[in-house]
Amino acid sequence: MTFHCQNYDIAADRCKRLSGECVPARKGCVLEGRMVVSDELAERIRRINEETARRKLKDSAARQAE
Ligand code: SF4
Repeated sequence: MTFHCQNYDIAADRCKRLSGECVPARKGCVLEGRMVVSDELAERIRRINEETARRKLKDSAARQAE
């Protein structure tokens, strides 16, 4: 099976919807909850979600310090 996502920017190798790496089924992806992911992909999604949460916390702390 092949799939082409309209949100994928081929030239930049990025997801335009999420402004970041294309990792199918990650949080906010059009495929989130709509497909079964491998253990490897699930681990990758978990890491991305952690990084995103950490970045949001850091941005929030920086805004409060202003
Ligand atoms: S992360 Fe999801 S929404 Fe974004 S380009 Fe990849 S498949 Fe499409």
